[in-house]
Amino acid sequence: MKKVKMVSTLVAVAALTLLCFSAAMPSGHGEAANAPGKKCDFVHGAHHAAHGPAMKPVEALQRIIEGNDAFVRKHDAGYYKAYATAQHPFVTMITCSDARVHPSVFINDPVDNVFVIRNVGNQIQNSCGSIDYGIYHLHTPVLLIIGHTHCGAVKAAMGNYMNESPCIVNELNGLHLPLKHDDGNGSFEERWLLNVERNVDYQVDFCIKKYDRLVNTGQLAVVGAVYDFINAYGRGEGRLVITNINGVTNPEWIKIAPFMKLVDENLKNTVVARKTGGH
Ligand SMILES: [Zn+2]
Repeated sequence: MKKVKMVSTLVAVAALTLLCFSAAMPSGHGEAANAPGKKCDFVHGAHHAAHGPAMKPVEALQRIIEGNDAFVRKHDAGYYKAYATAQHPFVTMITCSDARVHPSVFINDPVDNVFVIRNVGNQIQNSCGSIDYGIYHLHTPVLLIIGHTHCGAVKAAMGNYMNESPCIVNELNGLHLPLKHDDGNGSFEERWLLNVERNVDYQVDFCIKKYDRLVNTGQLAVVGAVYDFINAYGRGEGRLVITNINGVTNPEWIKIAPFMKLVDENLKNTVVARKTGGH
């Protein structure tokens, strides 16, 4: 027991030393040569806030620790008691890692409510164990797959990304199948949005097949959506546009889907929309 503790302490010290060393290393060495932001813009994003990447680690860490301190001060012990022994999410959410997309776009307090899986391009196959956990163990009634406008991952997958790090290339390769219906017609901006939608459709279709028993018995709704912060759909900035429910993509059919029956009629007309043809 003592030996195990000693070994883990040594490993921790070694990891810390390595961490400090790499933090002190100038960029351009080893992995740093492949650092995000050097090639295509999908990690840093063409639209990143100026303060993010410009911030030094020391400032960012201060912001994180002080941010958590403010959270701790705002909540008494009772707040945590409700979920001290178990989590109770009502939705499993797969979204892009993009900093502009968070569960807070559809719920005030995501804590204990949203089981979140995130990766570049909101993909299922590279995170399927986590998603299985949300569906099979947490039994969330909704699996929500969210793409978003101006998605850097989709944009990168539309171009040549072979100079990226092997890990990034591998991640973006997963978007090939979803984007195969891009015929190259229209402006880049139009194609970009259509491909975001196509990717969401692809991920929804994959999940319908994967969780067919739950879907067919009405226990699970697989919902595809696009978080639109540029008003590309004309439904206002910040709208979570519903584009697909259990493979139904025709907006008129989505509106009359049984899963939508509790949603206000006017709100349905606002939130259901598509750019690509639905069926
Ligand atoms: Zn994205």
